[in-house]
Amino acid sequence: MKWTETLIATLREDPQEAEIPSHRLMLRAGLMRKLASGLYTWLPLGLRVLRKVENIVREEMDRAGALEILMPILQPRELWEKSGRWESMDAIMLKARTHGGRELVLGPTHEEVVTGLVAGEISSYRRLPVNLYQINTKFRDEIRPRFGVMRSREFIMKDGYSFDLDEAGADRSYRLMYEAYQRIFRRCGLEAMAVEADTGMMGGRESHEFMVPAETGEDEIAVCPGCGYSANVEQAAVREGQFNGARTGEAVREVPTPGLRTVEELAEFFSASPRRFIKTLIYLAGGKPVAVLVRGDREINESKLAKKLGGAQPVLADGETILRVTGAPLGFSGPVGLEGIGILADYSVAEIADGITGGNREDLHLVNVNIDRDCPGLEFVDLALAAAGDPCPSCGKPIAVRRGIEVGHVFKLGTKYSRALGAVVKDEAGGERPAIMGCYGIGVSRTVAAVIEQHNDDRGIVWPAAVAPYQVLVLALAPDQPGVPEAAEEIISALAPTGRDILYDDRPASAGVKFNDADLIGFPVRITVGKRFLRTGLAEVKHRASEEVHTVPPEEVPALVDRLLA
Ligand code: ATP
Ligand code: MG
Repeated sequence: MKWTETLIATLREDPQEAEIPSHRLMLRAGLMRKLASGLYTWLPLGLRVLRKVENIVREEMDRAGALEILMPILQPRELWEKSGRWESMDAIMLKARTHGGRELVLGPTHEEVVTGLVAGEISSYRRLPVNLYQINTKFRDEIRPRFGVMRSREFIMKDGYSFDLDEAGADRSYRLMYEAYQRIFRRCGLEAMAVEADTGMMGGRESHEFMVPAETGEDEIAVCPGCGYSANVEQAAVREGQFNGARTGEAVREVPTPGLRTVEELAEFFSASPRRFIKTLIYLAGGKPVAVLVRGDREINESKLAKKLGGAQPVLADGETILRVTGAPLGFSGPVGLEGIGILADYSVAEIADGITGGNREDLHLVNVNIDRDCPGLEFVDLALAAAGDPCPSCGKPIAVRRGIEVGHVFKLGTKYSRALGAVVKDEAGGERPAIMGCYGIGVSRTVAAVIEQHNDDRGIVWPAAVAPYQVLVLALAPDQPGVPEAAEEIISALAPTGRDILYDDRPASAGVKFNDADLIGFPVRITVGKRFLRTGLAEVKHRASEEVHTVPPEEVPALVDRLLA
């Protein structure tokens, strides 16, 4: 392909809106353009990368025995009512309506459709296991689309769904996908790790996320340097009830704290460590208020809280609700004497000695609070977000916390959807059983961004060969000089039998512009021909990643390229 015959639009300047390297580089290198918030057009270069990732995914899915299908994006409301998710997933759904008034959802995921399909097609255990997948567009009304295709409203996902007769089979299917995912990310040039994940709203049993370690990742991963345990911090169990000093035995005392609401402000006022505070947050879950206690230096894990509350997604209560249920405005809530509302306490508050907490009156806090004495009967549960230094749930050594990008997710779903949608099969004994399901997702478009996040330098992208838009750039300097285009053609012909993707930069632009673009787009190998080639008969071959440079005659180019791309 000739540069002048395709559409490559690189940008000289960093785009304003891009906060992370992959977003900036995808715009600058001309891989994509923004249409509106969370919506992007893939340009020819970017689409080539997307297709390569898709092909790797497809090859590995096929190899693992999964069958490709293609399901509609628009899905009828009735189907989602059967699973109960028309309501529970409302917040992220984008919906449509026909002129005739039929309500539809633009699929954020496809459990309902695929399970309905299997319910209609498969009735005997003899047809199981079956694993169906597609590579298709998904729609989610993300509250905050950002980082380009990393978190967008419309994105490409590979989603797969396995159906088995029994638990052992479901475990096998899960394993197969887990291993396929490891191969997929490795082949894309990604260093990804599988971490234990929250089963959240999906209602499953076991789950792993595939995370690409990156400073800019939106997820936090708890990693144990001792035993290798790793989990999303949302999932990592925390059991800490550290005694933080001797009690004085003094009675609870009221202290005026005018205008002081945050733990930081109060810690300064009382000259006390945040670890002495019993932070009290009022949440609404399914419309019902609940008070949640956690030590001042810790954060609530809302996924754990949701599970404790039976699945309803909790949201922090507004000031009006707080005033109504506690009698005080935001910032002065506390558990002592708090009535008419459920209280959930994290382990971390159990052993706070002579603690400080809100007095449920404006501008008032209480000191010398000992929760066993002053709020008897509370049950302590794990509600905290894991943090660096917490004991590893597996071996007890202190954990580290790293950031990562979730590129894939595998789930053991159980029978929630097969029961709801009637995916029931006859077993050998003639009885009926709901199929046991697994679901498996890869963010294909997010994977492209993650590859860039892990492979870039100050000059641009450094593509791993397997997903580069073109593996080789043949760059002609002074292409109007007689002999130069011929030399370029000679090298391109010599490379043809290797099957490499080659782009020929035939633009009459300056060497500086051409070299900068080559580095920015990040072709793994750049081959330069120009006046020097005419003089010496040697082409310059440069490897983007290692910066190795070789000068060789055209006939040696193919072997060298093979070696550099290996
Ligand atoms: P996240 O926690 O990042 O919102 P999720 O857990 O909701 O993602 P899943 O339902 O597990 O996502 O979807 C499978 C995969 O799809 C994710 O692992 C991720 O790679 C990708 N994905 C999810 N949401 C988006 C999005 N808004 N934009 C791009 N990719 C996404
Ligand atoms: Mg996920």
